[in-house]
Formats: sequence, C-alpha cells, structure tokens
Amino acid sequence: MGSLRKNKFLVVSIFSDFQKTAHLFLSRTQVKLDQDSLNEDKNLVEKLAIIKQKKAEKEALQQQLKDRGEKQISTVDEDARLLTKRGETVAGYNVQIAVDNKHRLIVAEDVVQDGNDMQQLAPMLEKAQSILQSENLDGLGDSGYFNGSQIKACEDQNITVYVPVPDKSRRMAEKGRLTREQFEYDTEQDCYVCPQDEKLTRRGKPLQKGGKNYIRYKSDAAVCAECPLQKKCLSEKAKSKQIERWEHEEVVDHHKQRMAKNPNKMRQRAALAEHPFGTLKHRAGINHFLMRGLEKYGGEFGLMVLGYNFVRVINLLGVDFLRDYCVQRQKNKLKNSQYA
Ligand code: SF4
Repeated sequence: MGSLRKNKFLVVSIFSDFQKTAHLFLSRTQVKLDQDSLNEDKNLVEKLAIIKQKKAEKEALQQQLKDRGEKQISTVDEDARLLTKRGETVAGYNVQIAVDNKHRLIVAEDVVQDGNDMQQLAPMLEKAQSILQSENLDGLGDSGYFNGSQIKACEDQNITVYVPVPDKSRRMAEKGRLTREQFEYDTEQDCYVCPQDEKLTRRGKPLQKGGKNYIRYKSDAAVCAECPLQKKCLSEKAKSKQIERWEHEEVVDHHKQRMAKNPNKMRQRAALAEHPFGTLKHRAGINHFLMRGLEKYGGEFGLMVLGYNFVRVINLLGVDFLRDYCVQRQKNKLKNSQYA
C-alpha cells in the first residue's frame, strides 16, 4: 500500500546520477571562478555553496545506505520502500493478509518492506495455520507469490499451495524457439528428453544460485550438430543444450500438476483476498497510512484489520447477538466455547 511521495525516495542509481552532475558542475564552476578570480560572480559563488551542501547531504545518506547494505532510502520515512506491482511503482509498505474461506475474516496480517511478494507465501500461511490451529491447510495466492522454495516450505508444514505458475517461456515461444516445457524430465533415468528424443544427462557439480542448488543436464554436442531443430533450440554460440534443475524441482512439478487439476482455485482466491482490500480502500476510504515507520505502520494496519473483522462479525452474527455476547462476557457468565 503506497503512502509516500516517490520523489522523496533516493535510490542508488539516482545517487550516482546526482554525484556525476554535481561533480561536473563543481569542477566547471571552480575553473570559471579560478580564471575570473578578480571579478567573482556572486550568484555563481552562492550556487557553488548550495551544490556543495547538497552533495555533502547526499554523501551522508549514501554512507547510511552502504552501512545498512541497502539500495534505497526515503527522506520522509526511512523504513518505507519503493514497491512495484503490475508495472506500477508506489512508495510505502507491502501489506499482507490471509483470509479464511469459511467466515471471510482476515486471520493473519503483516506489513513488510519487500518490494514484491515472493518471500511472503510461507510466513503468511504458517501464521494463518497457527492461528486457525489447523494441521492441514490449503493456501491460495496470486502469481506474484510463486517461489519454489516458499512452496516447499509450505509443503513441509502440511500446507497445500495453489499459486499460478508465471509463464516465463512466452517470449521464447513467440520467437519460434523451443521452450523449457518442451524438455521432459524422466524421473527414473534422471535425465531430460528433448523434442528429438535425445537425452540431456547430468553433468558436473551442482551450481549455486540465490541460495539454491541447481543440477546441470547437458545434451551431446555431436548429436545437436546434426539436429534439424538446432537453430530453434540452441543459442548462437552454444554447441549443446543445458538445463539447470533445482534440487527440489519435483515440488514445482507436483505444484504444476496440482494447478492444472484445479483451474477454479484462482477464482476462489480473487473473491477471498481482493474483497477485504476493496472494502478497506473503497468503502472505508483507507488509501493511505497516516503513520510513519514499520512498527507504527504495522499497528495502524492491525487496527484497520480489527475494524474490518469487527464489521464482518456484525454482518455474520447480527448486532443483537454480538451485543448479548459482549454483555455476557463482561458478566463472566459465558465462556467462549458456548458460542464457538
Ligand atoms: S539441438 Fe540437441 S537438444 Fe536441441 S532438440 Fe536438437 S538434439 Fe535435442
């Protein structure tokens, strides 16, 4: 959810652009002043002082970024981040909710700084699982949540995930090139089989990328040299085809099969998760947070969720029932279990 002005953000690339411009201006101005020292241009001297001050301020911010190992900083709210969703960039925080299918209540919420949702699937579903005290849980998310490691983390906790698999091969297919999906993995023989029925066999040591281990499978260069599909299959300089397979790729393979068998799950997801956001934004008019800082943001969003759930409970149970329940609780005459 965005709440800040984007131009109050400084990112590493903007820093370096500013530094280059400032450096150029300072050196040119200094040369001009040195050449014309007897007849100093007061405006130029003032401009020089302002640019020097701004440069010093930016350098201090840049040092802060370097110390924190981050790539962007907001001068309004240093916890906020630039977030990109569906091609649109907003400045603010990434809010997460998990909604239960039975009562449509928000059972878990969080506010995070990540620019996308790729690391949020397992934390949110595990939180929901713990709150619902459910041993087995089905969790639905949009394609922004697709991440093999997160799907595996969910499965390890008995959470079955339904998240659309992003189509990364579309451009390749449009160009008439062979896509990864056209190479079938043979579990028994531990190899890939290409559209020409040739095997890509395991080669070398696993590769490490982004904290994951990938196993390499390669075709025979001599066979590929004679192949009629060579131009569609290999890049210009490659002599053979190489496929990298994540060591837990079977999790993704099962996930793809599950998604193909359950095409209606995504319609269910949209109805569940978009309704609370739509209600908060358009009915309650909450488009922006008022607080600054991750902790306060979290508190503010928690209150929004409480308000949403409260209205939802009234809609489910009715005002009279809820009022009676509250009165009874206050008198300590009724235990929760009687109303469960
Ligand atoms: S180029 Fe090699 S890997 Fe590609 S389709 Fe032909 S034989 Fe198979």
